[in-house]
Amino acid sequence: MVGAVDFTMGERAAALRGELRRLVAENVPPGFLGAFTDDPADLEVAQRFCRLLADRGLLCLAWPREFGGRGASPWEQTVVREEMWAHHEPRGAQYMGVNWVGPAIIRHGTPQQQGRHLPPIARGEVIWCQGFSEPDAGSDLASLRTAARRDGEGWRVSGQKIWTSYATMAQWCFLLARTSKGEKKQHGLTIFLVPMSDQAIEVRPIRCMMGPHHLNEVFFDDLRVSEADVLGSVDQGWQVVQEVLAFERVGIARYARCERLLLAAPPALGGAWDTLPAELRGRWARMLTHCRRARLLAYQVVSLQNQGQVRPADAAAYRIAVTRLDQDSAEVLMEIAAFAPAHGEQTRWFRAEVEDHWRYSQASTVASGSIEMQRILLARALLAGGTTPPYPPAPGGTHPPRPPLGGTHPPRPPLGGTHPPRPPLGGPSPRPGTSPPPPATAAS
Ligand SMILES: Cc1cc2nc3c(=O)[nH]c(=O)nc-3n(C[C@H](O)[C@H](O)[C@H](O)COP(=O)(O)OP(=O)(O)OC[C@H]3O[C@@H](n4cnc5c(N)ncnc54)[C@H](O)[C@@H]3O)c2cc1C
Repeated sequence: MVGAVDFTMGERAAALRGELRRLVAENVPPGFLGAFTDDPADLEVAQRFCRLLADRGLLCLAWPREFGGRGASPWEQTVVREEMWAHHEPRGAQYMGVNWVGPAIIRHGTPQQQGRHLPPIARGEVIWCQGFSEPDAGSDLASLRTAARRDGEGWRVSGQKIWTSYATMAQWCFLLARTSKGEKKQHGLTIFLVPMSDQAIEVRPIRCMMGPHHLNEVFFDDLRVSEADVLGSVDQGWQVVQEVLAFERVGIARYARCERLLLAAPPALGGAWDTLPAELRGRWARMLTHCRRARLLAYQVVSLQNQGQVRPADAAAYRIAVTRLDQDSAEVLMEIAAFAPAHGEQTRWFRAEVEDHWRYSQASTVASGSIEMQRILLARALLAGGTTPPYPPAPGGTHPPRPPLGGTHPPRPPLGGTHPPRPPLGGPSPRPGTSPPPPATAAS
């Protein structure tokens, strides 16, 4: 029997949620629609807000204390994630450092790398970007061509990345490059932690409808990096990438913004709400149900991460649900906004938020790996008779398992884990451990 899920996650989480809402109300100006607008003041708001969260121990609160966190449960970090995304992400680009860069360095970094990189992230001082995708290597990420060749004690990197979010404002890049030609294309890839201030790096912004400062091309022209900049083992970067992507894909609580905007619709419309066609109101109600579904799938992944497990297929199931929700709810909200009264501050603000949400949602089924690739990843795992094997905790890297906040939802069986193996579809069925590696795609 499955117990009821406590969506409030208990009293501590509710208090934290209240504190975060108060901090947003008092420190984020009304009309803030994220850090990546034409107005440089918006980025400053985000930078200030990160430091404020850091001062209160709320930025990286689920990180272990020795790395600048508060040792809190990942459920509390989930509350932060939800409240931030629901309010147009006032942490700006720094959510990436908290969500996946830091955890990757905690799991795979040397003590020197941990000492150098984790404190500035925890203090809210540094922006990272992710250098994975290339012009001919997005969904097929392992085909990337940016190469690092040995040069004495270090390496020299040349190549091009594309769609690199926040590269104009980032101080560091989490860079994936080819260091050797392996038996499979997933072999021979290495992660480097490189400073964006190096003269050998050029960033060219790409204009897009998500606003300025978002997407970029990044060129590496004989960039010198040292052995100390390698994260994990040389040629073994692929497993780290898979982990990073699984953390990243659950890192944005898109359902929280969808739910807040859907719930904001009736008060924003006032009396006009009653004039909505019944069919549109029906779709509005259905979207709220889908918010709960996406939330549950996110909690499934968080629960596994809480036990030190990373399952790409479960993260993919969440991504499919939440990105569909993002786009479907944006359509419903746009239709509803058309019924809003022409005048009034509340209506104007509701319209602006809905329009922003619609524009951002268009990219959500491509960023972090396209929805088609997520479906392939999930289908392969299901056909293999279970999920992709979990990645065990890195030695000494993760927390011991903690009970979830509120304690009402015990860990669930992995997605697909209870089905018997399925018969082959027109060919021999891949068996766990023998199936080709799932596709991994980049981004944030
Ligand atoms: C808003 C945004 C932010 C991003 N930020 C970053 C970032 O910070 N860092 C970074 O490295 N990258 C980033 N990306 C890039 C993102 O990861 C890629 O766009 C994504 O992985 C898809 O790769 P692609 O654009 O090369 O498309 P392609 O791989 O060329 O795919 C094009 C289409 O073909 C489909 N397709 C491809 N192969 C198959 C297949 N085998 N079977 C079925 N369908 C297939 C895809 O699903 C897609 O619909 C970002 C993208 C966006 C939209």
